[in-house]
Amino acid sequence: MNHRAELAREILGHLRSQRAAGVGYVCLGTPREAVPEAARPVTAPPARAPETAPKPEQHALIPQAAPAPEPTLAPMAKRRDPGPEPPPLPFDPEAEMSLAELKAAVEGCLRCKLGADRTNLVFGVGNPAAKLVIVGEAPGANEDAEGIPFVGRAGQMLTKMIENVIEVPRQEVYICNILKCRPPGNRNPEPDEIDCCEPYLHKQLAVIQPRLILALGKFAAQWLLQTKTPIGRLRGKFGRYQGIPCLSTYHPAYLLRNPRDKKLVLDDLLKVKAVYHGEAEADIELFQ
Ligand code: SF4
Repeated sequence: MNHRAELAREILGHLRSQRAAGVGYVCLGTPREAVPEAARPVTAPPARAPETAPKPEQHALIPQAAPAPEPTLAPMAKRRDPGPEPPPLPFDPEAEMSLAELKAAVEGCLRCKLGADRTNLVFGVGNPAAKLVIVGEAPGANEDAEGIPFVGRAGQMLTKMIENVIEVPRQEVYICNILKCRPPGNRNPEPDEIDCCEPYLHKQLAVIQPRLILALGKFAAQWLLQTKTPIGRLRGKFGRYQGIPCLSTYHPAYLLRNPRDKKLVLDDLLKVKAVYHGEAEADIELFQ
């Protein structure tokens, strides 16, 4: 008899004697629950089979993830002193509403210090379903007097830019500013004023849902693209505002003072024209 058969016979005999002695079962090894956690051997996870590099001919069959684009926009600096909380918004940002309803809600706004001295709040004008929204900085004296954005000489230049270069009637686009009230002496918008007023522009753009945005000047470009990159490096390139292609160029008021830069603006507007009329895709070059 070989050794294994002899061992089996001995085990069988032992089990029979145990049963005769009243033992109902035997435990083969120590139950896992009975072993204290600390006493359990630490077992290494099963080793993964080494990944073999695909052969060159397999590369074409394996979907490759597109590399993330390199950031090209300097992030906007966080304000050190955000100041006191502004008064509550006069509308529900989540609510569905028309542009006319939003305008009516904003009409009496006094969220920032500019509200007290305005003649008219300058909400925005144009097609509420515009494909193109044009965003400037803030109303000037003429706009404050009339309650309409881009009137006066800068407004006339903008009309030429829209109608003669982009080749769209002015009333087909929507025109507005970041600030809805005039800063005194046409000074630059201040950060707390932008903080108070920006929910209105966010909501205008959410309601209109344009296909394209044109930012005029540093403040509009930097706010829409959320960057501190200078306008000289932003202009002429597409970035995105909440997924919408957004091209920046110089403000018409700047062009009135610096007519030599008209050629640059013409080049920028021709890119907007091509995308607006479906002759080209927006070539996004600016990434956050
Ligand atoms: S600038 Fe904007 S936030 Fe300030 S008072 Fe006018 S509408 Fe209100």
